[in-house]
Amino acid sequence: MSSAMRPWERLPRISLRAIPAPLVQLPRFSRTLGADVWMKRDDVGDLPFAGNKARKLEFLLADAIDRDCDVVVAVGAAQSNFARAVAAAAARVGMPCILLLGGEAPHRLAGNALLAAMCGAQLRFQETEAWDELVQRLDATCSELETLGSRPFPLPIGGSVPLGVVAFAAAYAELVDELDELQLAPDCIVHASSSGGTQAGLELGRRIVGRGPVIHAVDVAKTGGDLRPVVAALATSAAELLGVRETWRQADIKLDESQLGQAYGVPTDAALEAIDLLARTEGIICDPVYTGKALAALVARARAGAIGPQLFWHTGGVPAIFDPRYTDSMLRAAFD
Ligand SMILES: *Cc1c(COP(=O)(O)O)cnc(C)c1O
Repeated sequence: MSSAMRPWERLPRISLRAIPAPLVQLPRFSRTLGADVWMKRDDVGDLPFAGNKARKLEFLLADAIDRDCDVVVAVGAAQSNFARAVAAAAARVGMPCILLLGGEAPHRLAGNALLAAMCGAQLRFQETEAWDELVQRLDATCSELETLGSRPFPLPIGGSVPLGVVAFAAAYAELVDELDELQLAPDCIVHASSSGGTQAGLELGRRIVGRGPVIHAVDVAKTGGDLRPVVAALATSAAELLGVRETWRQADIKLDESQLGQAYGVPTDAALEAIDLLARTEGIICDPVYTGKALAALVARARAGAIGPQLFWHTGGVPAIFDPRYTDSMLRAAFD
């Protein structure tokens, strides 16, 4: 399909990524692993610390503006990368922002929560970390705001709604254009998956483009339960939103569960080793919750003798390392 016909181009979109995410080769990391490793760097960009959520918000906030909403309300974990990106994007478009965050209010804000507060978001800690409860709080808060005469725009966990998913179909096409330019043909894209929107969008992008690397999604868990039906449903509804006649069943979705470790947010030794190796060889930082676990999957593939260029999608997440609960892990990664 030619780029002129790409279906997301008729949707409203604001620009939060004035700087395109670089696609770079990692020569020293590659040499250490004995593989040819490339990285798509969504961790850098125009919003502070960017990350994959900035892509979703280009479409989501354009919709909020179109609907004449006057406040955005997002939900996430205490160190949610999504919530922090929402706070920054809301500041950029001049919209008030309320964040419903998991857990107790910390004594001192750090990492993503601090950045979100700096961008003027109102942080409301929910004293629970249960996802279903947090999702209910989002509905309740929005109804309450409506009663008060306001027009809230709700942003569910990870921005993983069909309109957010569309952003990663566009991202897939962007990548394939860059790969063509470099005459590079990796067999897969390794990335971290948790609320499923990124994975669903990449799957959709691949069907729309009609060729290119397959999606090697590494489950880091968040929503609980099996992520595959969620990804299949998200990809299918995003296709429908674009008027693309494609559907996915659970069996079409692959998920690498080898790097989960104990739970979401609990670092693994393999992740810490991968983080350490990348930082020492390239000066690029991954986080222990998402990208470190995904990078560990790529390291395992390379060590098992994977052939051809390896492609890692760096989805961001770095500010979490400045939360004291992760600092110990980072110290272990650096000095053990
Ligand atoms: C949210 C997030 C992911 C996962 O993206 P989903 O679309 O929620 O699956 C991966 N990496 C980082 C750093 C994230 O913040």
